[in-house]
Amino acid sequence: MTKAKIIDGQALAAGLRQKIAEEVQGIQTRHGLTPGLAVVLIGEDPASQAYVRNKCKQTLEAGMQSFEHRLPAETSGEELQGLVGALNEDDAVDGILVQLPLPEHIDPGAVLGEIDPDKDVDGFHLLNAGRLATGNGAAMVPCTPLGCLMLVKDHLGELSGQRALVLGRSNIVGKPMAALLLGEHCTVTIAHSRTRDVARECARADILVVAVGRPRLVKGEWIKPGATVIDVGINRVEAPDRGAGATRLVGDVDFQEAVTVAGAITPVPGGVGPMTIACLLRNTLIAACHRKGLEKPRL
Ligand code: NAD
Repeated sequence: MTKAKIIDGQALAAGLRQKIAEEVQGIQTRHGLTPGLAVVLIGEDPASQAYVRNKCKQTLEAGMQSFEHRLPAETSGEELQGLVGALNEDDAVDGILVQLPLPEHIDPGAVLGEIDPDKDVDGFHLLNAGRLATGNGAAMVPCTPLGCLMLVKDHLGELSGQRALVLGRSNIVGKPMAALLLGEHCTVTIAHSRTRDVARECARADILVVAVGRPRLVKGEWIKPGATVIDVGINRVEAPDRGAGATRLVGDVDFQEAVTVAGAITPVPGGVGPMTIACLLRNTLIAACHRKGLEKPRL
């Protein structure tokens, strides 16, 4: 039985972080500038806390400045917008990330819309979403789909003419992913919870990117033999084989089945996740160069 190549997101992300660190050092030496990323976390959600910890740690490791703002869950939308406004004005801050999800009483659209589009390293501002949708090179591209595209291109090289299916249509992953693949001249289909016969749609795809948040939804028999499969999902499920009450992380693809059919596949964890943070650092570096009028690094 054939076994797919396992696409090593850890390794690709480590290489990207290394290049970013070298660029940061170069900018410091030549221009005396240190790029800075501000991360804002509201409330005590454990998963968000872990993400933010990791983002700040890797920002520092890349040689950039990290500004961490932790606010209580009761923070009002106005207070949060006030902080974003101050970060917009702060010249030491090149990138602003407001960790999602926000507490229910805060409108995420209003907060994300307040971020200076030039500092919008998550790429969620409507201006950047519009730029990406229209193929404008000035777009800040959302980190997770950008990381997915890098993984696909690292494995396949040229993507022109490939048939791609994006499963999931969120503004954070699915829609920008489809725009990126379209930009690479793929023939792109977006499938979602109302799609008729999702399995048949998947089976036509040379490139399958899955971002639905449903553990092991995509079965081996849904996958075209030899396809490149990118599993964005991060789902915590019970793992009785590891002992009572134990859990493990799994993706949206049934890895054990898919690995016997696909040509290449990302594991969970160790696939898309590490690329997301590396792309956040990349976007921060690019934002810093743009704001300071320096040449855009090729990353
Ligand atoms: P979301 O809930 O915003 O969107 C899910 C999408 O999946 C929706 O468009 C919905 O229509 C579709 N969907 C749901 N059930 C479906 C089904 N049965 N069949 C077909 N489509 C279905 O989720 P999201 O923010 O896009 O995240 C998706 C997954 O990716 C989650 O597991 C999330 O944790 C993970 N994620 C990982 C990273 C990372 O860095 N690795 C980043 C962002 C999100």
